[in-house]
Amino acid sequence: MARQILIAGNWKMNKGAADGAQLIKDIKAQIGCGCCCGGKSPEVLVCPPFTTLSAVLAEAKGSCLQVGAQNIHWAEQGAFTGEISGAMLKECGVTHVIIGHSERRQYFGETDATVNQRLKAALKNGLTAVVCVGETLAERMAGTTNAVVERQLRGALADISADGMKQVVIAYEPVWAIGTGQVASDEQAQEVHAFIRGLFKTMFSCPSVADNTRILYGGSMNATNAGGLLAQPDIDGGLIGGASLKPADFAAIIKTATKA
Ligand code: PEP
Repeated sequence: MARQILIAGNWKMNKGAADGAQLIKDIKAQIGCGCCCGGKSPEVLVCPPFTTLSAVLAEAKGSCLQVGAQNIHWAEQGAFTGEISGAMLKECGVTHVIIGHSERRQYFGETDATVNQRLKAALKNGLTAVVCVGETLAERMAGTTNAVVERQLRGALADISADGMKQVVIAYEPVWAIGTGQVASDEQAQEVHAFIRGLFKTMFSCPSVADNTRILYGGSMNATNAGGLLAQPDIDGGLIGGASLKPADFAAIIKTATKA
């Protein structure tokens, strides 16, 4: 089964409700009809901040744009100030959630264990999870990229079944490439993506997990470098930060993905 490309925008802590709705209008105008609807077209996802979700969902309604959140708590409700549950996200209408982004690991104490708990909550609530992994520059320089990615994946995916993996997308995001303009080369990215696919063959007895799980690349992807990255056999799309806030750039990546 061919894996459908997924182009996902991570808006991070940018765009309030009014600006977010305007950005969706602008993206829709840029991509036009047909660019991400049907055929060989990519799936397109945007992940705004929590308070922008409703406005973006309303503006995206009837279009091919899917909407996701940027985090989820593992509990259904309770004394967890500042957190959002899976039930709340479902009620709001989102279909996807980003989990374990390196900024959450770096600044908010996210660990492989909490990523796993959040992932289980996402699956329980019927959400598709975009699980992020990736090494720091020091880890790459030390030659431990694969070991770090393997540790993150084994931790994140502990107790997740082959069936559960149908709701999981992996985003390989080298930390040194996020927001830095320093993109991984096509070969560097492909090498890690192939490693992840190979790892899935050993982690899951069901071969469809390795064959069907989508692995996105993230880290300074833009309209210029997207073509080379998306042409790699094990790269199934992109998780895009900065360029997803610029309608023309995001649309250009979507158009590139349509041809990939
Ligand atoms: C990200 O935040 O997931 C990301 C890849 O950001 P950027 O595209 O800006 O590097």
